Amino acid sequence: MSGRIAVIGLGPGEARYLTPEAAAELEAAEAVYGYGPYLDRVPARAGQSRHASDNREEIARAGSALAHAATGAKVAMVSGGDPGVFAMAAAVIEAIEAGPAEWRGLEVAVVPGITAMLMVAAKAGAPLGHDFCAISLSDNLKPWETVERRLRLAAQAGFAMAFYNPVSKARPWQLDRAFDLLREELPGAVPVIFGRAAGRADEKIVTVPLAGARGDMADMATCILVGTTATRIVARDGLPDLVYTPRRADAERA
Ligand code: SAH
Repeated sequence: MSGRIAVIGLGPGEARYLTPEAAAELEAAEAVYGYGPYLDRVPARAGQSRHASDNREEIARAGSALAHAATGAKVAMVSGGDPGVFAMAAAVIEAIEAGPAEWRGLEVAVVPGITAMLMVAAKAGAPLGHDFCAISLSDNLKPWETVERRLRLAAQAGFAMAFYNPVSKARPWQLDRAFDLLREELPGAVPVIFGRAAGRADEKIVTVPLAGARGDMADMATCILVGTTATRIVARDGLPDLVYTPRRADAERA
């Protein structure tokens, strides 16, 4: 019998955001692998083993799960949000590419989930209503110079942006540097949305102008959306603002 690995997106938090496909895959798994806090979100099921690991050990975690699947087991690997967005799906496929030939014979299913930027965008209105990009601000897996270059070019190209991994204890100054750089490229009025714990009970969504955006407004549980010069804020009496980026873009300045 050949094994199977499902790389499953759990969505941003609450169970109502878990897709029926992801729930069915979790139910069918004989073993579940993942970062501890994500595993804690998966309801316990009799006969299913659990393998928690540290956040940084992605390739080792992928290798353990693949070796387990290669014994013929149905294995699940869980990620927060979507498994293909700065998460485990790429790590699992990287491990398959570099690993023993038998791992290529495994059945692989990548099960999508609601990623953080889409949850935050939905809560704010439609800030990603036109062209946008997603950038991880972590310099664990790429040089910081690459982050800066991508930020600058994305701003110049008129993309709205979603920032993942905005800060960590090991990266105290990078987010302020990113905002300074964006202020060189974009007007101070561009809306910046800080979405913390989106889709969970302690969710907090705050919008400030780029001129007032500061690194200490975010933590590791925050996804930041930066609008464009076209992004608008619709104010309403006694109701939350609606932030949106119109579906049409004007001809670009030369
Ligand atoms: N695979 C995940 C992203 C993993 S990277 C996804 O698709 O959402 C981890 C980063 O995701 C965090 O630093 C934060 O920027 C963002 N993030 C994850 N869950 C979040 C949530 N509920 N609210 C806001 N940001 C979140």
